[in-house]
Amino acid sequence: KYESYPYERIQKIREQNIAPSLRTYYKKPLLLHQGHMQWLFDHEGRRYLDLFAGIVTVSVGHCHPKVTMATQKQLARLWHTTNIYMYPAIHEYAEKLTSLFPDPLKVVYFTNSGSEANDLAMFMARLHTRNFDIICLRGGYHGGSPYTLGLTSLTPYKHGVANGFGCTTTMLPDVFRGPWGGSHCRDSPVQTVRKCSCTEGECHAKDQYIEQFKDTLNTSVPKTVAGFIAEPIQGVNGAVQYPRNFLKEAYQLIRERGGLCISDEVQTGFGRTGSHFWGFQTHGVVPDIVTLAKGIGNGFPMAAVVTTKEIASSLAQNLHFNTFGGNPLACVVGAAVLDAIEEDGLQKNSEDVGTYMLLELAKLRDPFEIVGDVRGKGLMIGVEMVTDKDSRRPLPAEEINQIWEDCKDMGVLIGRGGLYSQTFRIKPPMCITKRDVDFAVEVLHTALQRHVARATAK
Ligand code: PMP
Repeated sequence: KYESYPYERIQKIREQNIAPSLRTYYKKPLLLHQGHMQWLFDHEGRRYLDLFAGIVTVSVGHCHPKVTMATQKQLARLWHTTNIYMYPAIHEYAEKLTSLFPDPLKVVYFTNSGSEANDLAMFMARLHTRNFDIICLRGGYHGGSPYTLGLTSLTPYKHGVANGFGCTTTMLPDVFRGPWGGSHCRDSPVQTVRKCSCTEGECHAKDQYIEQFKDTLNTSVPKTVAGFIAEPIQGVNGAVQYPRNFLKEAYQLIRERGGLCISDEVQTGFGRTGSHFWGFQTHGVVPDIVTLAKGIGNGFPMAAVVTTKEIASSLAQNLHFNTFGGNPLACVVGAAVLDAIEEDGLQKNSEDVGTYMLLELAKLRDPFEIVGDVRGKGLMIGVEMVTDKDSRRPLPAEEINQIWEDCKDMGVLIGRGGLYSQTFRIKPPMCITKRDVDFAVEVLHTALQRHVARATAK
C-alpha cells in the first residue's frame, strides 16, 4: 500500500519555493515514492524501469541493501568532523579506491560534487604547472560552478556572466555529427552510419580531428598550457565517442606543452563502460588527474579527485580544506558501493547487458529513419534522433518529446542529452538485466511505431 501524496500541493511548492532554473522531466513530472535496484515507484504505485539512474548517479541500484545497511550502521556511530583527526573508515576507503588506479595515481582528495572535483582539478593543474590555460572539448559538461562553467561547452548551461577565464574550447571529434564520419572508428559494438575514408588501422577522421586540436594549440593559447580535460565518453552531450586513439594523441600534444591531462570520470567511472573500470583505460591512456562523482556514492553526495603524489605536493605547500569532503558516512557509502560492484559482478554485467542492449537498439536504426545513431560502450548509451539520416537535423522537440513521454507512460524512464536535447541517454543502474533490456527496447519500438503512425496521419 502506498502513502497518498497531495500531488497538486507538492507541485505548488515546487512552483513557489524551488529554484526555477531546475527543470523537471515530463509534462506531468513524476512524483516518486521509492526506489529499488533498477526500479522506481511513483506516488500511485506505478513501477518504472529507470534507464537514467538519477542522472547516471545510481551505479549499483536504488537503495542497494548492502549500501543501505552499511550507511545505517555508520549513522549510529560517527558522521563527521574527522578531517583534523583520523578515522579508520576514511583511510580504508582511500586505500581501496586508489588501489583501483594504475600507478602513479595514488593520492585522493574527497569533495562533495563533480563541479567541486573539477574545480579542484583545474586549480591543481594551474598550481602545479604554473600555467593558466585549459583546453576542453565542445559539448563537454564539467560542472556549473563559476570555474567549471568555463569548461562546460553547452549553451543551455551557460549564463551571461564572467566565467571561463583561461578555458579554450576546441572541436569535438564526433564521428556521427562531425564533418569526417567514421564508420569503423569508435570503440563500440555499434558503428555509425556515417561513412569515412579510413582504412583498417588508419583512421583519417582521427587525424583530421587531431589537426584541429593542434590548430587550437597553435593559435588560441600560449605555448605552454595548464592542462586538458575530457570525458572518456561525453555524458550530457549524449554519449558522444571520439575516434580511437584521439585521446592518446591529444594527451601527448598537451604534455609536450607542459600541461596535465584530466579525465572526467563522473559518468564513465566505476565499471560503467564494461570493458574497464575507468573510461580512460578504454583509450589506453593514464591521466595525471581523474575526477569522480555521481556513481561513486550510488546517489549519496560525494566526489573525489585522484592524482599523483608529485602533483599533490604542489597543493601541500599551503592548507587546502573541505569541511564535508571525505566524511565518515560518505567513505562508508563509497566502500560499500565498491564492494557491491565487485560482489554483484556489475562491471561484467555492464559489458554483457550493455553490449546486448546496444545491438538490440541498433536494430531500430533500419526500420526507423529518425533513429540516426546508436552508440556507446557498456551501459553508457546514446540514441540520437534526427529528421533523417542524410541531413542529421535534430528531430524537432515536439516529436522527440512525444516518443519520450510515450516510453514513460509505458513504464520506461529515459534521459535526454545533446545540444538540442535530441539524444536519448540510456545509463541505467548497472544491475539491469537482459530481460529489462528486452522490455525497454520493445517499449521504444512501440513508441517509434506510434510516431510513424502520427506522421502518416498528418
Ligand atoms: N562532470 C560530468 C561529466 C558531469 O556529467 C557532471 C554532472 N552532470 C559534472 C561533472 C558535475 O557534477 P555535479 O553536478 O555533481 O557538480
